[in-house]
Amino acid sequence: MELMTIAPWHARPHRGKVTSTDPAAIAPMSLVESERTFRSLFDDNPQPMFVLDLQSFRYLSVNAAALSLYGYTREEFLALEQSDLRVLGQAAQLHEDRLALAHGTKLHFRDTQHRTRTGEVIDVEINIKPLAFAGRPAAIVVVSDVTGRVRLQAELEYQALHDVLTRLPNRALFTDRLDHALARRRRDGGLLAVLFLDLDNFKTINDGLGHSAGDELLRNVAQRLSGELRARDTAARFGGDEFAVLLENIKDAAQVAQVCDRIASALRAGCHIRGTLVSVQVSIGVTYSGDASTSAELLRNADGAMYGAKAHGKACFRTYEPAMHERVAQRLTMESDLRRALDEGGLRVHYQPVLALPGMRVVGIEALVRWQHPARGTIPPADFIPMAEANGLILPLGRWVLEQACGQVRTWQREIDGLADINAAINISPRQLEDPAFVDDVRRALATSGLRPEKLVLEITESTMMRDVAAAATRLGELSALGIRLAIDDFGTGQSSLGQLRRFPVHILKVDRSFVETIGHDQVARDLLSGVVKLGESLGLDVVAAGVETREQALVVQSMGKLYVQGHLYSRPLDAEAMTAYLMTRRRVQLSQTEGVERPVASCDEHLSRRDGRRAEDQRAVL
Ligand code: C2E
Ligand code: MG
Repeated sequence: MELMTIAPWHARPHRGKVTSTDPAAIAPMSLVESERTFRSLFDDNPQPMFVLDLQSFRYLSVNAAALSLYGYTREEFLALEQSDLRVLGQAAQLHEDRLALAHGTKLHFRDTQHRTRTGEVIDVEINIKPLAFAGRPAAIVVVSDVTGRVRLQAELEYQALHDVLTRLPNRALFTDRLDHALARRRRDGGLLAVLFLDLDNFKTINDGLGHSAGDELLRNVAQRLSGELRARDTAARFGGDEFAVLLENIKDAAQVAQVCDRIASALRAGCHIRGTLVSVQVSIGVTYSGDASTSAELLRNADGAMYGAKAHGKACFRTYEPAMHERVAQRLTMESDLRRALDEGGLRVHYQPVLALPGMRVVGIEALVRWQHPARGTIPPADFIPMAEANGLILPLGRWVLEQACGQVRTWQREIDGLADINAAINISPRQLEDPAFVDDVRRALATSGLRPEKLVLEITESTMMRDVAAAATRLGELSALGIRLAIDDFGTGQSSLGQLRRFPVHILKVDRSFVETIGHDQVARDLLSGVVKLGESLGLDVVAAGVETREQALVVQSMGKLYVQGHLYSRPLDAEAMTAYLMTRRRVQLSQTEGVERPVASCDEHLSRRDGRRAEDQRAVL
């Protein structure tokens, strides 16, 4: 570019008196010298450049950098027509550009394309400046090859609108297309549908087979999804395992249902990823253009309908209903409230004792989380754990409960006589079990609290284990290797078979509350419980009867032999302070029993009745 500011070598002869400020005064050059200098600046310049005759429009001179850029020999280049390189653009423009140059106007073209000798099109930026060359009107053309920059820019623009992994449009492009489709619909009528898809079992596959296999699977899903759509429909990936589809000009809901079925069966058919046949399940939410007027509303509706599909047992599709809107709004508020509670100390752990029969010794404490909501009061876990599970908050939440409970139980072990051996029982949700960092979390909680591994019991429901048997067996094996113990929670409610049970390093069976509930009057429930107790004995597993509420139930349970119990009859879940008081009272009861003193049941009952409003009579029966 420097060259453009240098006057043509014969255009400015150095004549007359030179002043000291004139640069020429520093080094006055002869014409020959000046010409030689320019020639060398031209020939050796790394910037491609050539000289164009403004009368014949042939090339008069070309430098080595330009020959290398275009791939011609000097002779070939000088024989080219101007249009061979398309230096001045298309024919109409060419004429105007020639006129401008003839009038001494400099030209600059930012985005233009040239063709090389091999026919390859390159992106160039060019500056053209008129000058005189050997006494003829000419122009010097300086070329910058910007192909790399233009391609990079195009790639960046593409990436801003596409998902890099699957090459599908991303949320931004999808929303833009949806906006246009809505505008077209307002003008021309017609019906459009938005589908929101979430893969049900992606996390398990991703963790089980590894992340690169997960990526491969997502690419495969993208291909299959696109394969089931018409050319005018749009499939997009919103991130993670979330996809969206825009169906334009549809006839009716039946047509959309068909598309959903086709997508579901294409994904279910499975594909081979690293030698494993992987079948994918998908939950789909559907909404129609009539349900909302903006793309944001439609997407929110489809998302809400997808949650409806998940809640309905997954692997199905659900169509948006206005009532869902309320639920989505509530869910979003709850989600952000829970996030805040987690950050700002709005969660509490309550504790419920597990006692050994006979003797009623406290052998363990189950940690049960509660949410102290500023406006809604205490929220039970059933009302927020599923949501935390769905949005991933269960991971930090579960980690927090783990740390709290290990620390608290260790304090009781140290500070209350006779409790040095009690267990901490903690509920673990599927997502935690699937989390590769979980084993480290457990290790850290043990190290920080000083709780011995064999004193930690992780409670896992049957359905969590059965969700992905192979993956669960691996993770539970790792946990068991740490020395901790595993309990199957809600035992008897799932479909686990004995054969499958043996695949897991299980130590404790917690019989579901529903069995204990009817045990007082239902012989079948009684037989089932005694069957589980025998099963436990033969497999060397401890059995806990959960949810003992009445004296009647307690008596039946006691008759079954060696068993552990938990339930409102003994204590409701209490906060740490109240549980400390309970444990101290129980300790005094135990001591007085061993010393043969009459049991001070009343004091314990008073304490518990005050707290729980329960009948002291029930207490006396078992303490
Ligand atoms: P779970 O593990 O089966 O816990 C026992 C549930 O039964 C607790 O309900 C407890 O309060 C209740 N319960 C105990 N004894 C009785 C009784 O005699 N009668 C009746 N009717 N209920 C009794 P809660 O605290 O509402 O917890 C419900 C479920 O929430 C738990 O069931 C557990 O699956 C889950 N959960 C609680 N805390 C956590 C946690 O920190 N992490 C995870 N992932 N899940 C948790
Ligand atoms: Mg439990």
